[in-house]
Amino acid sequence: MMNPNVTAKICTRCGARYEPGSPHLVCEECGWDGTLDFEYDYERAAVQLRAELDSPTRRGVLRYHPVLPLPEGFPDTGHTVGPSPLLEPRYLRDHVGVSRLWVKFDGQLPTASFKDRASIVAICDAKARGKTTMLAASTGNAASSLAGLAAPEGITVVIVVPKAIPRAKLAQLLTFGARVFRVDGTYDDAFDLSLKAYGRFGWYLRSTGVNPVLSEGKKTGAMELLEQLNFNPPDWIVVPVGDGCILGGMGKGLYDLEQMGFISRMPRLLGVQAQGSSVIYEAWRSGADSVTPRSATTFADSISVDLPRDWRKAIRAIERTGGRMITVSDDAIADAALLLGRLAGVFAEPAASASLAGLLEARAQGVIGPDETVALMVTGNGLKDVDGTSRRAGQAPLVPPTADGLEEISRLLKE
Ligand SMILES: *Cc1c(COP(=O)(O)O)cnc(C)c1O
Repeated sequence: MMNPNVTAKICTRCGARYEPGSPHLVCEECGWDGTLDFEYDYERAAVQLRAELDSPTRRGVLRYHPVLPLPEGFPDTGHTVGPSPLLEPRYLRDHVGVSRLWVKFDGQLPTASFKDRASIVAICDAKARGKTTMLAASTGNAASSLAGLAAPEGITVVIVVPKAIPRAKLAQLLTFGARVFRVDGTYDDAFDLSLKAYGRFGWYLRSTGVNPVLSEGKKTGAMELLEQLNFNPPDWIVVPVGDGCILGGMGKGLYDLEQMGFISRMPRLLGVQAQGSSVIYEAWRSGADSVTPRSATTFADSISVDLPRDWRKAIRAIERTGGRMITVSDDAIADAALLLGRLAGVFAEPAASASLAGLLEARAQGVIGPDETVALMVTGNGLKDVDGTSRRAGQAPLVPPTADGLEEISRLLKE
């Protein structure tokens, strides 16, 4: 049944080991705080992965199946996720002042965010288990991703979102036919309600920070990036951080690649949080073995989290790669969105622009030097939140359709 390369599921808190196919979502002893992690027989997986990359039997991120927790012969899906484009925008590189700069634009995945990487793997898992209803709590992208990728599979999707979800994300959900419930509260309230619904109805839980299958999907972001770079690691990979699942997943992807001998050196992960939502940053700085929830205030909704769930994997990713955490202001995020647009032609939602804001801050602090190479994970499309994305973009002046109009255009262009 389960991929025979999986050797165990291990609790990230107490180290307890579970059988690969055990039904546990989280550790029996540690409860919701004990998220699990998949361990593989890397020697065998490496041989299979090399063969698969040479002549693929699957599409997109599912090509990494030798290191995904899916049963052999898992069912195929309607959508293909990945590869997303890897750009090398030179004007942006010169502006930042590093020796090479890549932008991995996951805003071009099927539902326009990085979350598709996790959703597609969860959907394969759910289908293999014969589940017909899937459940998620989300700030928006995880939900719209699940809804869009599940639609062609005939799977019913139940979503709980916070009251304040951006319009485009809600529009995606409703258009994809998900049963959407807006919770009168924050993302964290929605999340807690989803755990209760999981307990009561037993649906497949696509919750980031709980179900370990999701981080395994997220690790394909690192695998695909490194594959596109011919497995030559950049010095740094920059990742925006809310719950910490993307950061933790990227760390796991790099760890797997190193264990399998695809890379001989770890790129360092730079995790970027908004100043108004910086709980993981605080835990990393203080070295505490716990997180202190704080009411989030950033306009970058996809990284606005009061109580991060996957912080342990996130901090482990920073430690394993010799990386760092950094915070940026909302103004810096809004400015970064403009730079991505103007110097790279990349329309990125605020959370995704936080990567560039973090890189600029790391350059200003001297954390990243001018001779280093950097890959930016740009995790979501600006069309998800056009008001947030274009916050600092200015207005379009109105001109008359006459000769006076041309004079005005000429005058305004000179200003
Ligand atoms: C979810 C999301 C993030 C943050 O991911 P976490 O796993 O919550 O840290 C960043 N950017 C975008 C666009 C997202 O949708």
